[in-house]
Amino acid sequence: MDWKGGRRSNNVDDQRNSPLAASAGGLGLLFRFLPFLISTKIGRVILVVGALGYAGAHFLGIDIAQLLGGQPQRSTQAASPQDQELADFVSVILASTEDAWKTEFQKSGKTYQEPVLVLFRDRVNSACGLAQSATGPFYCPGDHKLYIDLSFYQEMKTKLGVPGDFAQAYVIAHEVGHHVQNLLGVADKVRQAQQNKSEAVVNALSVKLELQADCLAGVWGHFANNERKMLESGDIEEALNAAAAIGDDHLQEQATGTVRPEKFTHGTSKQRAEWFNRGFQSGAFNDCNTFKNAD
Ligand SMILES: [Zn+2]
Repeated sequence: MDWKGGRRSNNVDDQRNSPLAASAGGLGLLFRFLPFLISTKIGRVILVVGALGYAGAHFLGIDIAQLLGGQPQRSTQAASPQDQELADFVSVILASTEDAWKTEFQKSGKTYQEPVLVLFRDRVNSACGLAQSATGPFYCPGDHKLYIDLSFYQEMKTKLGVPGDFAQAYVIAHEVGHHVQNLLGVADKVRQAQQNKSEAVVNALSVKLELQADCLAGVWGHFANNERKMLESGDIEEALNAAAAIGDDHLQEQATGTVRPEKFTHGTSKQRAEWFNRGFQSGAFNDCNTFKNAD
């Protein structure tokens, strides 16, 4: 992909060094100045005030010790140059999804509300609850935010065998697809239709929702290719490979050795690649109706 000249998004919330890290750093500073604090009168005043503050925080239910104990090594964890480039890349891809969907929404007289993308490390608090990196990238409808731990890209490469920047961009475009579904009310309708239904029906509807998000990722791909000229040869194959590698049939087979379609929540590798391609060819939301011809 030719992305480096692209616009950066203003909607990236980098929490890789979260407030937890700041408090851990604060503790280090305290120990460094402890001799000074004990030896002078003003220092002792600062210590007492600090201790009272700590106790106050504890009373309010903020357990600083536990917070610090949780991930003490975070404060010193500087991002590697590769990680910084990835963060830059994510910002450019997010910006291009903003431009693509702004244009697409305008066609039907709607205004696109841009989502926030949260970069995190290890775990993160979202309106959808506390999430671990192992969950993989996700979109939370409750706060209109996308969450991604950049280490997922390493996993894509090593565990799933999907390298390539366009494959990485596809992951973001798919999550943005869920945001679009949320804005347009599709996600709500599906949730309502899933109420009190059998597992098979619930899963079948989830598959349609996921395939639509793949198709919407394709709509972004169409824009990135035609308007932004970001694509290079081999990029589409990368995205199709990514879609195939994270298809439910493939993941199930890897995990259990068997394939059980009634347990699918995302669709087969073939379906995912097909819907991405459909969106990519058309570039229009209306061609992504995976709910039509319900079977
Ligand atoms: Zn999804």
